[in-house]
Amino acid sequence: MNILILGGGGREHALAWAILQNPKCDRLIVAPGNAGIAELAECAALDIEDGGAVAVFAEENAVDFVVIGPEAPLAAGVADRLAAAGILCFGPSQAAAALESSKAFTKAICDACGAPTAAYGHFTDADAARTYVRAQGAPIVVKADGLAAGKGVIVAGTVEEALAAIDEMFGGSFGGAGAEVVIEEFMEGEEASFFVLCDGETVLPIGTAQDHKRVGDGDTGPNTGGMGAYSPAPVMTDAVCTRALDEIVKPTIAEMARRGTPYRGVLYAGLMIKDGVPRLVEYNVRFGDPECQVLMMRLGGQVLDLLLACAEGRLAEARVNWADDHAMTVVMAARGYPGAYEKGSAIRGLDGLPEDSAHMVFHAGTARRDGQVVATGGRVLNVTARGASLAEARQRAYGMVDRIDWPEGFFRRDIGWRAL
Ligand code: AMP
Repeated sequence: MNILILGGGGREHALAWAILQNPKCDRLIVAPGNAGIAELAECAALDIEDGGAVAVFAEENAVDFVVIGPEAPLAAGVADRLAAAGILCFGPSQAAAALESSKAFTKAICDACGAPTAAYGHFTDADAARTYVRAQGAPIVVKADGLAAGKGVIVAGTVEEALAAIDEMFGGSFGGAGAEVVIEEFMEGEEASFFVLCDGETVLPIGTAQDHKRVGDGDTGPNTGGMGAYSPAPVMTDAVCTRALDEIVKPTIAEMARRGTPYRGVLYAGLMIKDGVPRLVEYNVRFGDPECQVLMMRLGGQVLDLLLACAEGRLAEARVNWADDHAMTVVMAARGYPGAYEKGSAIRGLDGLPEDSAHMVFHAGTARRDGQVVATGGRVLNVTARGASLAEARQRAYGMVDRIDWPEGFFRRDIGWRAL
């Protein structure tokens, strides 16, 4: 098969690495890709949010299967455009992608199907939002309705903070994403991510993970896109997974089908677990980044078969072959991230590292200049390892991190502390 992956981050590098392990993959193109992806696949320049351009590119290159990595092309309807052109595609339709692109939509789905989630109000008017916050008190969570690259959520410890967040959102600081605001009950507990594949009807769990959003050791400092992750998540016991499936995910999938917008793709449920009871924090309609890196490390070459079964509506006959293993990824970021940072610094020491079924450095913001790998983004490398235990995976991952020579970069030393 000729396969096209859309995206250019650590998630897409991990997908490419896993897909290439499957002998069904003859040719792999990644658009736009990055320096790490270029070591193993062809990279192509393409506007991945332009469904027409993606369909034309796929036809010209005899692509049999398109895998969409990030949320933006999904929200832009690229999967619909490919389906209309008769090109097999992994990723939900624009209508189904509303489970991520509109928080108010997700809340309405939860109401309709009875999935447990935080109590909430939905506002298009700042005064009504302020009145609600004053009545509810703090802590409380203020969310821009639309996609805001992970930055549209403010967990307010005081009413004043919540009111300031409302002013900011209605003031337009999140663009169109802030014209509607969801205000939610603050949920206590431990967060974890639960990943399932859905083909519109059948739901197949493909793993759990936890990530570290804060920039600093001890989960301190500002939020980031994620500084590391591990899989499985110990808090996601079999009993919690069963409850999450039966009470949250399956009712959601049934409700989407009932509305005539069946969900096909990976559904990533962000859960809050307290006393063994999961509640939904949010849905994402794609793999998480960096959670994808640890899932791919554990699933390997079978991923392509699973993604194909999902896209072709054959999940009922699909199985995941689990090894009793653990994986961890440590993100190396440019100093200053998530604030301002320099671009263009050279990264040395990558060449001698082991790259096998238990060790991989997945690239995010990198490029190759004059034969040298240089940093071009905030999150730059995802140093990922697998082991028989989480402790072994961690030892391997940090063993690699310590061999990478990049003075302009930094990383957290304590990924996995809660689980270990
Ligand atoms: P979201 O983009 O909705 O996942 O929100 C980002 C982060 O904000 C989550 O990963 C949680 O850590 C936190 N968060 C969101 N909603 C709530 C809530 N209702 N209660 C507590 N924390 C929340």
